[in-house]
Amino acid sequence: MPDVIQLLPDSVANQIAAGEVVQRPASVVKELMENSIDAGGQNIQVVIRDGGKALIQIIDDGCGMSETDARLCFERHATSKIRQANDLFAIQTMGFRGEALASIAAVSEVEMKTRTHDNAVGTSIRISGSELVEHEAVSCPTGTSICVKNLFFNIPARRKFLKSSSLELKHIISEFQRVSLANPSVAFSLSHNGADVYKLPSGNVKQRIAHLMGKNLGQHLIDISTHTSVIEISGFIGKPESAKKSPGEQFFFVNNRFMKNPYLHKAVMRAYEKLIPIDSIPPYFIFLKTDPGSIDVNIHPTKTEIKFEDERMIWQILNASVREAMGKFAIVPSIDFDSEMVIDVPFFPPSAPVSPPEIEVNPDYNPFDRNYVSRSSSQQTSRQHRPSARGWQDLFQQEQGKGFEEQPEQQSPILFNQVESEPKVPKPSERFFQVKNRYILTSVKSGLMVIDQKRAHERILYENYMQSILVGSASAQQELFPQTIELSAGDFALLHSVIDDLTALGVVVSFMGQNTIAVNALPSNVKTNNAEQLIQGFLAAFKGNTGGQGEEMHHRLALSLAKAGSIPYNRPLEPIEMQDLVDKLFACQQPNLSPDGKPTITILGVDELEKRFR
Ligand code: ADP
Ligand code: MG
Repeated sequence: MPDVIQLLPDSVANQIAAGEVVQRPASVVKELMENSIDAGGQNIQVVIRDGGKALIQIIDDGCGMSETDARLCFERHATSKIRQANDLFAIQTMGFRGEALASIAAVSEVEMKTRTHDNAVGTSIRISGSELVEHEAVSCPTGTSICVKNLFFNIPARRKFLKSSSLELKHIISEFQRVSLANPSVAFSLSHNGADVYKLPSGNVKQRIAHLMGKNLGQHLIDISTHTSVIEISGFIGKPESAKKSPGEQFFFVNNRFMKNPYLHKAVMRAYEKLIPIDSIPPYFIFLKTDPGSIDVNIHPTKTEIKFEDERMIWQILNASVREAMGKFAIVPSIDFDSEMVIDVPFFPPSAPVSPPEIEVNPDYNPFDRNYVSRSSSQQTSRQHRPSARGWQDLFQQEQGKGFEEQPEQQSPILFNQVESEPKVPKPSERFFQVKNRYILTSVKSGLMVIDQKRAHERILYENYMQSILVGSASAQQELFPQTIELSAGDFALLHSVIDDLTALGVVVSFMGQNTIAVNALPSNVKTNNAEQLIQGFLAAFKGNTGGQGEEMHHRLALSLAKAGSIPYNRPLEPIEMQDLVDKLFACQQPNLSPDGKPTITILGVDELEKRFR
């Protein structure tokens, strides 16, 4: 039998390799941007036409290449970054195996102009499907400009496979975001068909996020930072109200490379539980730094998934880090309060049904250990007397009677001071105003606080109900005339399945047969004479969310009851009621969010007010 094995020609081998590296125009953009960063570029321009199908051009002001390097860089395994196999495991730069340019040149028409600082003339090279077409000296600026035209022109099957320009552009934008987020000190621009998409000046991470994702998100970021011997975590997470229904703003960077990691994603999501609606997803921009030897170095150049040696520990540290950052934020209204209060307000209700952590690393490590309640045991049962509630009033009185303690005797001839010197606590009617039977307005240190009355009440009821489910101690109010309600068979069964929890909440129902129930008692703080509406509202809210067990179900129950039982919009409130509502809101663990994660409070700052009077 004759010999049959032949070595593939380089051009074919390159095309095969290209299949791995170059999946679509966005892969080219990523590889070229990373090369430009590795070359020390400080200004990197990305020019795209037709979703990258017609043209991808990257221009940098990096170190450029010598004439020889310019020719060599298109050879497979040509790299200036790795000298020995060992380097693979310690590699910090972006590209690692000298295959990108060879692969790209195998499946497109490439034109490159490059010049190093110490060469007066540069080099121009044209390659088409791995074939050198032209190689000459040119005059060009320091740095490198690479044009990639007609991607997959020589592989029609793959060219056909490319999607619409707008979809390909979407992929390019994602890659552009990932690379530019990881390198905020480098200025980038992106244009498509002649129109600017991004112009990003050099800056810090936060500024980069704001430039990429919009100023609005920039204002809703909390920074996170944790340093342990295993891993260093830094970056930003979005406040709960910035969570969105669709993904797109979730970024992990490991040693400055964008990575996907569904497992660590869960560590972040878990920290947001109960703070955002179930179906929404918070933005995050998290940078993890670890010893390159402790991650599974997958040298596939397009691989964006990564495995850590000690993933469970990192999960735990990350989850705690996010919770700690949110804990600091959880008392957002405390921006207005005195700083010592910030420290003592616990993030989670001490008694809340927090599921036990799946992994225990260090049982002593708990960022929320500064739990006020555990320190002042005498106050721990009464929610109304928590420091946050008192602090809120202190703040208020401080605001109203400012100065009278310092100068109690002073009889100033100035009217203004005389008013201040009277130690008089203002009446609720002087402190709270209702607007549109919907918002409560009151003055605080930093400006004008606006409270959404319904959401505030939902928060109060929700925390009460969660407490009740836990201790089973809701005070139920017997109905004088138990109302009978006829339900559908499904609703009847559903109600049956949650009867224990309902009873714990103070909803006492008896099942009469023929799908009829009698409502014998309701929670005493639910003021409604329409029990049917309450039960129906509760069923409706509960129905869409099957499958929840335990804690999740309690959350649902408490949430739907809180929604059903809360004071509606369009209800005029007496000043004393408003005061009560606001006091109770600030006695809550999470005063600034409704139980389904919407803001309850907003503050119109003095700055903002001043701006409007300009
Ligand atoms: P790798 O990045 O893995 O080394 P590439 O095929 O992407 O492989 O690039 C090959 C080599 O070409 C790089 O190692 C680098 O020396 C050089 N190179 C590529 N792009 C640039 C650039 N924009 N500026 C300067 N040198 C570059
Ligand atoms: Mg590279």
